[in-house]
Amino acid sequence: MFISADKIHNGKNWLPKNTTIEIANDGTIIEIHNNQKFENTKHYAGIICPGFVNVHCHLELSHLKGAVPEHIGLTSFLMNVMRTRNNFSEAEKKTARENAIQSLIENGTVAVGDIANTTDTLSLREKDKLHWQTFVECIGFNPENAEANFSFSEKIYTQFAQQKKKNNQLNQSIVPHAPYSVSEQLFKLIAAHQKENILSIHNQESAAENELYQNKSGAFISFFKEIGIDNSSFVASSESSLKTYADWLSADTPTILVHNTFSTKADVFFAEGKFKKVFWCICPNANLYIENRLPDIELLNQFAQNICIGTDSLASNHQLSVMSELQTIDQNFPMIGWELLLRWATYNGACALKMENEIGSIEPNKKPGLVLIKNDFSIEKLY
Ligand SMILES: [Zn+2]
Repeated sequence: MFISADKIHNGKNWLPKNTTIEIANDGTIIEIHNNQKFENTKHYAGIICPGFVNVHCHLELSHLKGAVPEHIGLTSFLMNVMRTRNNFSEAEKKTARENAIQSLIENGTVAVGDIANTTDTLSLREKDKLHWQTFVECIGFNPENAEANFSFSEKIYTQFAQQKKKNNQLNQSIVPHAPYSVSEQLFKLIAAHQKENILSIHNQESAAENELYQNKSGAFISFFKEIGIDNSSFVASSESSLKTYADWLSADTPTILVHNTFSTKADVFFAEGKFKKVFWCICPNANLYIENRLPDIELLNQFAQNICIGTDSLASNHQLSVMSELQTIDQNFPMIGWELLLRWATYNGACALKMENEIGSIEPNKKPGLVLIKNDFSIEKLY
């Protein structure tokens, strides 16, 4: 089958005009042709690009759509999530997860980096054709509990790891939740687990996170008090959170820093020099929902090697749509342009999840899923 479109983005760049994609019925790319005419070529109005990669999502929180008010700041948001996440029946939660997956697929997503605190998404991973990297999240700020915190997550990880592959990629790793919720000891246990696997962490999502590390002050101090966390052994480093915890991780492990709403130029330079491979995952709609603020995406675009896109969860977003995240970036940072935006949403995301050999770009022998972006920015999934 031969298809063409007004514009084609191959996951990295725009392809020249008069490009035709030859594709098999199962979605495998056979060949990319330039300046050749084929009978029965189907032409689409709009942009064709590879399926989107959503690098940061929490499908297990899908039932919290609309449950947390907007613009209340991160610590109040976390408090709300903790208080409300269990006020739903198992059936309600399951239906919400299934609807969320459906909308992810309809919005052109082919792969997801999904945070798991539970095994709630186990059955979902078997059913559909999405590719999954499940990030089993470790939480525990009290160093005395580090071993117990780690072994709790390890049990969940093992259940994901035992799942058999069908048509889709099922991968998983154990990761730290955030600098304000993981002790140095727990960071080190996580870092030692699988150095070659992918690590993801919520990074510099609020100003309070840096205040905690710089001088042990700010909103997290009252947050700890309110939820009864003993922080007496925590010592401020006088540095940003990122500069501090990076030393507790392995520089060889591919690392995805998520949010980066309060990352500075010094942080970006530091992380680019520290880690062999670092990805800056931005989730702009969630940042607007929680903190009503965006990361300095222009700064990241200038100095970060790899930017990719996430939606975060339905607790902090009105939809799970990579395209909606791109539109928000384009409205606020029009200088970036769609060639780069589409690269972040496809090829870079696939690289972040180590899936670039299969998806993320329109190249022979890959099966990236093809998405049509219509002129009104609505999405049609072609393959
Ligand atoms: Zn998140």
